[in-house]
Amino acid sequence: MGEPKLHILAHGAVFSIVRIITSQATPIPSEAAPAMSKAGKEVARPEELLQRHRRLIEAVKGVEEEVWGSSGLLVNHAVLAALYAYRVALGEGADAEAVFVASLLSDAVTALEKKAGELCPRRRALLLEEALEKSGYPEELAKRVRRVLEDGESKRILGDADALAKLMLTGLLESAATRLNRGRDVLAAFLEAASRQLTAIANLDCLVSTRTAKRIARTLSERLRDTILSEIGEMRRLGLLVDVEERIEDGHQLVLVVPRRCPMCGAVLEAKEERNPGCGGVRISTVCGRCGWTYSVTVCPPPPCRS
Ligand SMILES: [Zn+2]
Repeated sequence: MGEPKLHILAHGAVFSIVRIITSQATPIPSEAAPAMSKAGKEVARPEELLQRHRRLIEAVKGVEEEVWGSSGLLVNHAVLAALYAYRVALGEGADAEAVFVASLLSDAVTALEKKAGELCPRRRALLLEEALEKSGYPEELAKRVRRVLEDGESKRILGDADALAKLMLTGLLESAATRLNRGRDVLAAFLEAASRQLTAIANLDCLVSTRTAKRIARTLSERLRDTILSEIGEMRRLGLLVDVEERIEDGHQLVLVVPRRCPMCGAVLEAKEERNPGCGGVRISTVCGRCGWTYSVTVCPPPPCRS
C-alpha cells in the first residue's frame, strides 16, 4: 500500500502550497460566517450573489455582444465593479444586494443608451425595474434596485465601485485592450494606459468619494502604481528611453508617460503637445520620422475633479 500513501502525500504538498499562495491575499471567509451589514442584518455572500444573479450576468454578456460583438471587457468589468459595489455598500450601510444588481447592470444600460440615445435618470431606473420584473425578479428586489439608482448616496457607491475595479491590474489590462482594439501596438497601448492609470491614482481623492472606497483605493492604487513604475523602470534598464512626467494643470495633477526615442528604431522623437480645455487635460502625440511608429495619449483628471 506504499503507492496510494505517496499520492496522498503529493496531494497534501500541493494543497499546502495553494494555501500559502492564497493566504497572502485576503483570507477566504469560512462558509459558516454570514456577511453582515452595518445594521447587523445578515446579507448574502458575494459568491451567493454571483450564483443567484448569473442570468443577469448572461444578460450583460448578451448586451456586450449586441453592441460591440463579444470581447468580454464589459461583462468582466461589470462583475468586478458589482463585487466592489457590494463591498462598499456593506461598509457604508447601504442595501448591498440591490447595489450589487444595480452596478452589474449600469454599464450595460449605458452601452445600450449609446446605441439608442440617452435616457433621463428616472426613466432609466423605471426601465431597469421593468426589465428586472420581466426577467422573473421579485418585484420587491426590482423596487430596491430602482431606489438605488435614484438615490444620490447609492450613486456615489456605484461610481466608487467602477473606479475601484479600474484600479485593479485587470483595469490596466482593460484600458490597454481598448487601445489595442483601436489598432495600437502593445507598447503604445501600455504606455497610454499607464499614463491614464497613473493620472487617476494621482487624483485619488476625486476618483472615489465614500470612506470605505477611499480605504480600499489606497491599497489598490499603491500596488498598481508600483507595478506600472517598475515595468517602466525595466524598460529604461533595457535601453528604452521612456519618461514619466508629473505636472500640474489647472490645479490637477497629470501624469504622462512619454517615450523620448522610438522603441522600434531608436530615433529621437519630437512630442507635440496640446491642451485639452474640455477636460482640463493634455494630449501628447508623436510620430517617428524614421519608421513611422506612432504614439499619442490624452490624460484628463477624473470627472468630479474637473469642475
Ligand atoms: Zn522609429
